[in-house]
This record gives sequence, structure tokens and C-alpha cells, in this order.
Amino acid sequence: MRKVRLDDLDSRMGPAARSLPLTDALGLADAAMNFYELEPGDSFAYGFHAHAEQEEVFYVLDGEVTFRTLDEDVTVEAGELARFGPGEFQQGVNEGDEPVRALAVGAPQDAGETEILRECPDCGGETTQELSLADDHSEIRAVCESCGTVTGRFD
Ligand SMILES: [Zn+2]
Repeated sequence: MRKVRLDDLDSRMGPAARSLPLTDALGLADAAMNFYELEPGDSFAYGFHAHAEQEEVFYVLDGEVTFRTLDEDVTVEAGELARFGPGEFQQGVNEGDEPVRALAVGAPQDAGETEILRECPDCGGETTQELSLADDHSEIRAVCESCGTVTGRFD
């Protein structure tokens, strides 16, 4: 077995206040796992997205997450879980006033192609985005694939 303490892990850059990578820490063979803390306004994800090959489960431990889906916005509270299938577009955001703590599990570990949509002010609507790490590694940028505008910066 392998045991991991969350407080021993370093948070990654990204759209969440705290994003702890558990996949390698636990040596997971087939699943991917992350622990998140979201301050108000934070998100698990860089945009409205779908993983081609991976299903995902979110277990909300504290606070309240609003998941945008293609159909409607769905609120998931502490003590509730949400599952998204491969290819299903979603984005979880902390739209509340309290911090969110949540565990996310995905399988298979390789999510396959991930399509990310974000609002691009220059294109005037939601466009496909790619992520790039700044040359000085200070931030991750979301870039509109249609026009090259940076639509988000995450550190
Ligand atoms: Zn654009």
C-alpha cells in the first residue's frame, strides 16, 4: 500500500486555489485523482470542457459547486457526488461565498483529447482554447485557437 498526506503535496498552477496531484503520489495505475480547494470564483477547470476518453467523479467535501453542463447549471453540495461521462461538457465553479474542498477521480488515467471552450472577446463568442505555459513558467495561459488572444491567465 501507499499512504499520502495532502499537506505534504505541493499545489499546482491552475484555476483552483489549491490543486494537489494524487495520481503519481499514490502511484495509481488506472485512475487519475486530484484534490482541490476552490476559493469563491475559482474553478476546477480552465474552461467548459470535455475529455474524449475519461469519465470523472467529483466528491464535494465542503462548500457548494455549480457545474455548468450542456443542459443546465447543477448545484452539488457537500456530501454529494457528480459523475460526467466521456465526451460530456462540464465546468465546476465555486459561485458561493464559502471555500470548496473536493476530490476528483477520473478513469482511465489518460483522458484522451480534451476540448476546452472559453469566451473570446475578440471572436465574440466561445471558442476552442489551447493551454500554454509561459516561457518563464510563471503562469499557464488559455489561448484562443481561432485568433490567438489570451483569454485567461492562471498562476
Ligand atoms: Zn478569438
